[in-house]
Formats: sequence, C-alpha cells, structure tokens
Amino acid sequence: MTENNSIGKIFREQLRDRKRIVVKIGSSSLQHPETGDLDYTKMDVLVRELCDMRNRGKDVVLVTSGAIALGKKAVRVEEVKHPGHGHMALKQACAAVGQARLMMTYQKLFAEYNQVAAQILMTKNTIVDNLNRYNAHNTFSELFKLGVIPIVNENDTVATYEIEFGDNDSLSAIVAALIEADLLILLSDIDGLYTDDPRKNQQAEFIEIVEELSDELMEMGKSSTGSSVGTGGMNTKLIAAKIATSSNIDMVIANSKDIKVLHRILDGQNIGTLFVGNKKNYFDLPEFVANMHSD
Ligand code: GLU
Repeated sequence: MTENNSIGKIFREQLRDRKRIVVKIGSSSLQHPETGDLDYTKMDVLVRELCDMRNRGKDVVLVTSGAIALGKKAVRVEEVKHPGHGHMALKQACAAVGQARLMMTYQKLFAEYNQVAAQILMTKNTIVDNLNRYNAHNTFSELFKLGVIPIVNENDTVATYEIEFGDNDSLSAIVAALIEADLLILLSDIDGLYTDDPRKNQQAEFIEIVEELSDELMEMGKSSTGSSVGTGGMNTKLIAAKIATSSNIDMVIANSKDIKVLHRILDGQNIGTLFVGNKKNYFDLPEFVANMHSD
C-alpha cells in the first residue's frame, strides 16, 4: 500500500500526462470555520492553480459546493439541513441565493487570471435521461474547445431526493466519467485514506496508493462520518473512487489545507491517496446513477 516500490512511482509519474482534470472542493474547505464566511485567500489560490493547469494546456473542470452554506449566511438562516432531510423549500431557496453568490466570486477570480468560467448545474436526470446526457456531454465538449473552465454543482434549487446526487464527491466522479476525464482530484479536510479513522485511532495507517478497490476497503468507508458543513465523509469518497476507477480514471484524495498540492500532484509528487484507474469490468454510468440511493 505504500509507494516505496517503483510501480507506485510510475503511477505517480503518469499523472504528469493527464489531459482532462476534474477538481472537487467541498464547503468546509471554502469557509472560515469560525464564521462560515468564504475564505477568499483559499479561493484565490484554488482559482490560480486551476488557471495555471489551463495554461499548461489541460482541460479543467471545477466541482464546487458551498451554495447552501453561502445562501444560509446571506439570508441569515441558522439551520438548513442538507439534501434529503426536510426543510426542502427553504434549503432550495438558500441554494438559489448561494449559488449566484458563489459564482459571482468565482467569476471575479477567474477573470483576474484571464480565464472564462461557465456554470453547469446538474441533477441525476442529466445523466439518466439519454437526451439530457447527450446534451450535457456536448456542452462540456464545446466549452473545452472554447477554452472555458466549467464550474459544476448539483442543481440544489430544484433537486429533491428522487433526482439528487446528494453529495459532490459522487457528483464529481460522475462528471469525470461523463466527460471522459483522466484524473479526478478530491480536495478534502483529510490527507487521504487511512486504515481506520485517524481522529479516533492513533494506530491508523495512511494508505498512499490503492491499485484495486476491494470490497473490504469499500466496507471500511461506511463507518466513517463526514464534516458538519458538507455532505461527504470517507464513504462518499470511496463511492467516488469506485465510479472513477471503474471508468478508467485515476483519483487522488488530498488535503485542502494547502491547495497548492494541485500542481504538485500534477508534477507526479507522492501526495494524498492515489486510486489507480482500472477498467476491467463493464461500468454503465446511467444505470449506476439511476440506482443510486435505491438501497
Ligand atoms: N451541493 C451542495 C452545495 O453546494 C453541497 C453538497 C456537498 O457538500 O457534497 O451546497
């Protein structure tokens, strides 16, 4: 599980050649924990890193949360539960306010680095419905041709339980599969995958590379809890890894406390946990998405 072997190094080196990259950042990484307000310094570094990737000639997509959290702040609503837990109309209203605010900040920052950003909001229907999926795929392709950076979020304003992805970890992997990306990077509040929860067990060991996503690993994630701000714990990250690796996409989980890890990952440095893409089994994206939450 460590990369002290040359195979691990080779897998890392190969990340230099990745051409189409999806980066996901969660609400907790974008906010100041003390106040819940946006951390502009972090957002600035994030946008600079993404623009630099673009300047390296990569196609870049950002999947970002923060709509509901920002909306709550803007309209001073203390308690809006996350998707699937009631208060639906209030949550959706907060998302409508927050998504616009989030984009306003991103647009300003991307413009400062001379890049054009676009907004794409999705629900499960975008993937499950053949015409919607075809349209979404074509829109992304066209945006890449135009050199634009798509910024994606769940369409929280209209999504209800039946049509929501529910978390942006899975959404980012689904987007990566839809657009045939070759690398997905999840920026999280944890360094990567451990053999157990490091906050509870000091013996927990860090896992640098996962070449085969076993059922045992998938089970391990189920017991982990997420942060209080976003909706993603380790379970959703492992589901994202399943979607990505089954679609032959490499995925890295890395800590968002230093967003500059993004270019280091692309330089082949040994950062976070790397899940190696692997397309041994047939994977049907629309079918997978249609059956999400059906258990
Ligand atoms: N889509 C939600 C938002 O933008 C967050 C989902 C998540 O954190 O995974 O607020």
